Amino acid sequence: MTRDLVIVGGGTAGWMAAAAFARFLERGWRIRLVESEEIGTVGVGEATIPPIRLFNASLGLDEDSFLRACQGTFKLGIEFVGWRGDGHRYIHAFGPLGRDLGLAPFHHYWLRARAEGRAAPLERYSLNAAAALQDRFGRGAPPGSALPEHPYAFHFDASLYAAHLRRYAEARGVERTEGRVADVRLRGGDGFVEAVRLDDGREVAGELFIDCSGFRGLLIEQALSAGYEDWSRWLPCDRALAVPCAHGGGFTPYTRATARAAGWQWRIPLQHRIGNGYVYCSRFTSDDEAAATLLAGLDGEALAEPRSLRFTTGRRRQFWKRNVVAMGLASGFLEPLESTSIHLVQSAIARLLTLLPGREGVRGAEVEEYNRRTAFEYERVRDFLILHYKATARDEPLWRECAAMAVPESLAERMALFRAGGRVFRQEDELFTEAGWVQVMLGQAVDPQGWHPLADQLSDDDLAAFLESVERLVAHRAAAFPDHRAFVESHCRAG
Ligand SMILES: Cc1cc2nc3c(=O)[nH]c(=O)nc-3n(C[C@H](O)[C@H](O)[C@H](O)COP(=O)(O)OP(=O)(O)OC[C@H]3O[C@@H](n4cnc5c(N)ncnc54)[C@H](O)[C@@H]3O)c2cc1C
Repeated sequence: MTRDLVIVGGGTAGWMAAAAFARFLERGWRIRLVESEEIGTVGVGEATIPPIRLFNASLGLDEDSFLRACQGTFKLGIEFVGWRGDGHRYIHAFGPLGRDLGLAPFHHYWLRARAEGRAAPLERYSLNAAAALQDRFGRGAPPGSALPEHPYAFHFDASLYAAHLRRYAEARGVERTEGRVADVRLRGGDGFVEAVRLDDGREVAGELFIDCSGFRGLLIEQALSAGYEDWSRWLPCDRALAVPCAHGGGFTPYTRATARAAGWQWRIPLQHRIGNGYVYCSRFTSDDEAAATLLAGLDGEALAEPRSLRFTTGRRRQFWKRNVVAMGLASGFLEPLESTSIHLVQSAIARLLTLLPGREGVRGAEVEEYNRRTAFEYERVRDFLILHYKATARDEPLWRECAAMAVPESLAERMALFRAGGRVFRQEDELFTEAGWVQVMLGQAVDPQGWHPLADQLSDDDLAAFLESVERLVAHRAAAFPDHRAFVESHCRAG
């Protein structure tokens, strides 16, 4: 007997889920998606992180065709401007820092050399950072290279990505229903969702529901009251204004996040335009003032009126409840400072595939495991974002408040460990790497008091030679990459 999977919502989350389930549940399942064009999608979400390549590859999408279809560009990391005061900048580049030597990670050697006044800036030891800052991009490692293949991600037009995945999913049998869900019918007894009812009376029934309905959480919250854990005491921004603009500045292969008085502004270069937005805290600025700040910080002419979005950072208390699994904005909201939301959709899909209920139906132990793993992932990303807010030297009311706030114990312990001796450990399968934590800790001036004693095993001359060789190798590789715009033009220019 065919099993029915129903996805409610056709934003990035809904179509990612539809595409992936169509790809992996080819036999024995009917997959339907309900969406309302009249309600529309959130329409933002244009910067990604490297695992998106795995997602696209698992669907068998050709990278250049996908980029052509979505006006996409490449992303090597995120540049943070002004987070320690105007004029300061650093980059959180994807990929490793330098090259580990023996048992000690590279940054311990760098910390020692820096203390001795003999280190170049950290970004000169990261291939991604060095290439990014010269607006260069290339793929793959040259034969015989001592550096591994470098990770990268994309910037793309969110609505074009959803449309691309829709074509993929529909070609694989996903049935789309256009209509507005007006009601959710629950089964007597256990309260499982039996069907969603549209405002014209039609019903779409299913065995398992994926709630991708956005902030409103139609099924998970409005019907099942899963609850919400509010994290705004740590991540206080609650609004955003988004606006596209014409190209003007560099065609950068990285996202830029610039700190402002009451939040921060993103800049995401696509082929046809630049996506911009100001994420801010409404307690510290008015909407008009925020709009003026955003518009004053564009590369080129604004191509539309700024769009306003409101949110509360946090997560659903239960991501999976009864036979409903929430994904995307329906599952929670972590602001886009490290471009993690689309990734959280991807990992939710992978996790649900791992724990997909068999014919015997939903089982409590599997639901609990799903919720435990998802909460862990959310909390580690949350901590990483809070670090940017907490370790700041800006002298405006929002930033002074953030610098003084008490952070979650898990982050406080990490910061203390790093301050003590530069050590950072990745926990379980958390998203961000050691190199990511190190770059942001150092970038935000969480300065270690020492380094690993193994870094003292090198003589002064050997240390200098080691750092110099890594710097030279990185510079050589970065210089061999073509200009980012030229690379896009020759490989994946949109028609
Ligand atoms: C300011 C901001 C910036 C962001 N930047 C990034 C970024 O750079 N990188 C990143 O990874 N993520 C980013 N995100 C997050 C990203 O936009 C979302 O994770 C992603 O777009 C997924 O959204 P969604 O599909 O869950 O929701 P939505 O796009 O809101 O889609 C909801 C869907 O549900 C449908 N729907 C709702 N109610 C009903 C109903 N009653 N009946 C029928 N259909 C209904 C809607 O029509 C729509 O199709 C950002 C988010 C915000 C707010």
